[in-house]
Amino acid sequence: MAVLLCLCGEPMGGSQVPCDSIVEIYTKEAIDAKIANNTDFVDLWDKNYTYWYCPRCKRLTITEDSTRHYYRSYSRIHENEHPSFEEVASWQEILFYRDREFYDAIEENDKIKVGEFVQKYPSRYLVRLSPDETKAFVFAPQDKAYLFTYVLDPKPDFEKLDGK
Ligand SMILES: [Zn+2]
Repeated sequence: MAVLLCLCGEPMGGSQVPCDSIVEIYTKEAIDAKIANNTDFVDLWDKNYTYWYCPRCKRLTITEDSTRHYYRSYSRIHENEHPSFEEVASWQEILFYRDREFYDAIEENDKIKVGEFVQKYPSRYLVRLSPDETKAFVFAPQDKAYLFTYVLDPKPDFEKLDGK
C-alpha cells in the first residue's frame, strides 16, 4: 500500500491491510448495475480511483489508479445554512464504506455477491452529490439529520507546494 500526503501535510496509508486511510466510494447507480448483473463482490474492486481519508483534517482525496496522481479532493466543513435531506434527495446517491468492511466481508464469505454485501453492510452515511460534483451533503441514515458537507478543493499548485 502506497503512502499519500494529504494537502494538510498528514501522511495517509502505509503497510497495514486493510488500510484505515482508504475508503470505498461508489455511486448507487453503479452498485445497482452490479446487483442487477449478480456480480461477485470481489469484482466490485475493479475501479479507476482510490479514495483516501485524512484522519487529521478529514479531507477526502481521490487519486487515479492508472497514474497514481491527484485527481481531486474535498474538504469537510460544517455549514450552518444547508439544505434538508428532502431538498437534495433526488441528487446522485453515493455509498460510503470503510476498506475494513470490504476485507471483513471477503474474509467471512469470498463468494459473497454485491447485493448480499449491500444488505449486510449498509452505507455508513446518506450522501447526495450535487450535479456539478462540487458539493456533497452528508446526513445520518437513521433520522436524515444533516451532519457535514464535503466541498471540492481548488486545484492545488503542486509545484508551489514542492517549493520549486
Ligand atoms: Zn489532511
